[in-house]
Formats: sequence, structure tokens, C-alpha cells
Amino acid sequence: MQNIDWNGLTFKYMDVRCHIRSVWRDGKWSAFEFVEEPCFRMHIAATCLHYGQEAFEGLKAFRCKDGKVRIFRPAANGKRMFDTALRTCMAQVPIDMFVDAVQRIVQANEDFVPPYGTGGSMYIRPLLIGTGAQIGVAPAEEYTFLVMVMPVGTYYKGGLQPVRALILDDWDRAAPQGMGDVKVGGNYAASLYAHESAKRAGYPVELYLDAKTHRFVEEFATSNFIGITRDGTYVTPDSRSVLPGVTSNTLQRIAADLGMKVEVRPIPFEEIETFAEVAACGTAVVVTPICEITRGTKVIKIGDPNACGPVLQKLYDTVQGIQYGLLPDTHGWCVEV
Ligand SMILES: *Cc1c(COP(=O)(O)O)cnc(C)c1O
Repeated sequence: MQNIDWNGLTFKYMDVRCHIRSVWRDGKWSAFEFVEEPCFRMHIAATCLHYGQEAFEGLKAFRCKDGKVRIFRPAANGKRMFDTALRTCMAQVPIDMFVDAVQRIVQANEDFVPPYGTGGSMYIRPLLIGTGAQIGVAPAEEYTFLVMVMPVGTYYKGGLQPVRALILDDWDRAAPQGMGDVKVGGNYAASLYAHESAKRAGYPVELYLDAKTHRFVEEFATSNFIGITRDGTYVTPDSRSVLPGVTSNTLQRIAADLGMKVEVRPIPFEEIETFAEVAACGTAVVVTPICEITRGTKVIKIGDPNACGPVLQKLYDTVQGIQYGLLPDTHGWCVEV
């Protein structure tokens, strides 16, 4: 065990023992290398720097009640990175290789996985970048795949805290047929300006509507949208420019397991005020309840501003229960290290 203040962990970069790396050259991936140095020597003409050939992922490993470390749904993230690589014309990392890299790097840093009961976990960040030197606009001939890890704390020390969200009609996150459905860093660059404006105005998250008509709900900058109707149906937007979140998919399946109706369909902006509960969901925080959504002069209040709604709380408790090994893993989502 490392000498770390496990209960004081937040969501911040921290050096660990090593990261794992493979390079695609001459049509094949090299053997994995474990690298201790966190700085990277790269050609100044690398395509990731100039033309944005970059894909990233985010997933977690948990120290379970039985002391074992388990990774949550790594193949789902591997599949998504595979799809992102295809969309950005990068060499694809086979899903088996992705899962193998994740398992190996968690194992190599096992003593950095927070103990059971602290609410912490190990955040896993895979990265795929064009590292071939090239100045003409074309796919690179060399790529680097690496996976870094770090211990992170729980976002919610005192239970799930609802937050206020802002819709900014002056900015879009992703074009209707753009890159919204793949995990590229450029999507975050595209949303940072609006995010900083929202933050300055006192809203920790911003919600995006569809870029073409601004009539339908899409997602938050870094997390997916969940609406729970008054009759207990789980609703989430159906849109080509929404990022297919693993957490969103997990929660939909848990909701169905719990006997809830699940609908993936367009959600008109006007429907928001009919929801009993609304949340943002993603790997880092799992579920963030939303108690208010502001658009211009319109302020929509949703549920109790001081507590998470009962349906979302139940979904959150169930996913965390599976992740920490307290509930049966009936879908085979947890992969032991
Ligand atoms: C990563 C991401 C999410 C959440 O996906 P998870 O797999 O659940 O972590 C949602 N929206 C965007 C834009 C993202 O980049």
C-alpha cells in the first residue's frame, strides 16, 4: 500500500509507478512497454499536435469488498476507442489488446488502487495519438497507444448533491454529423469556452441542445442526460451527435433490470419541465442530479434542490454496489485483475 491520504483524494493528476505503451509502426503494434517517466518525447510534426488525431477513454477499477481489484466494463471502452480510431483514420487498437493493456497497467500499479470503503477508485485513462511526423493533411503513419492510471476520490463526500445547469444557445458542442459520437479531445476543446462562461455565471454544468434546431436535448459537455418521468420511465436522448456513454448504457440496463421502462428517443426542450428527476451521468461522477435548468430567462426547477431523487439514488446505489462487489454482477461487467 502506498502512503497516500486515501480519504482526501479528489479528481486530480497524480504520479504513479508507470504507464503502459505500444507504438504502431510498419503496420503493427509493438510489444507493451512499461514506462516510468510521465513525460513524452514526441516529434514536433506529430499529427496529434497539428491535426487533432487523438482519441481518449476513461474507465475505473475498484477495490472490492473481498479485497480483489476489478475493472468495470473495459471491453465497452475498448470498442468505443476502436470506433473513435476508425472515425479519425487512426490505427485501431484491437479490443483484446486494449483490455489486456488496462489489466496489466492496473496490476502494475495495484498498490495505488484506493482501499475498499474509502469511496475511491483507480481512474484509467487510455490515449491513442498520431505520433508520425507529417505536415500534409493525411492520416499519420505512426501511432502511440498508452494507458495511464491514478487513484481518485469520490466526488460526493456527503451524498449526491444536486447542481444547477445552464443552456447556452450561442454555442454548440458537436455538429449534427460531426464528431459528437466519438471520444476525441477536440470535443472538449469545443466546449471549454461555454463551460467557463457557465461556471462564471454560477452553473457547474452546461446542457447542449441539438446543433441543427436547438429544439431537442442532447447532453452535458462531458456527461449524458437522464430524465425520469413522473410515472417512473427512464428517458435518454436518441441522437447521432451524442457520445455513447458506458455509464448511460449501464444505467439503462440496470433500470430495465429493476423493472423500469427505458426509452431512447428525441427529448424536446419543453419536456424537461415534466420530468420528476434529471441527472448527468458519466464514469467520473456516475450520477450528478440536476435540480434546475436555466435557458435565457426561463428557469426550470426539478425535484428537491437539496437531495437526489429516489429513482436516481437507487440507480446510483445499484451501479456502485456492482462496482464494489456488493451486488451480484449478473451482466459479467467486472473484470478481475
Ligand atoms: C466520456 C463522455 C461521456 C460519458 O461517457 P462514459 O463512458 O459514461 O464515461 C458523455 N459525454 C461526453 C461528451 C463524453 O466525452
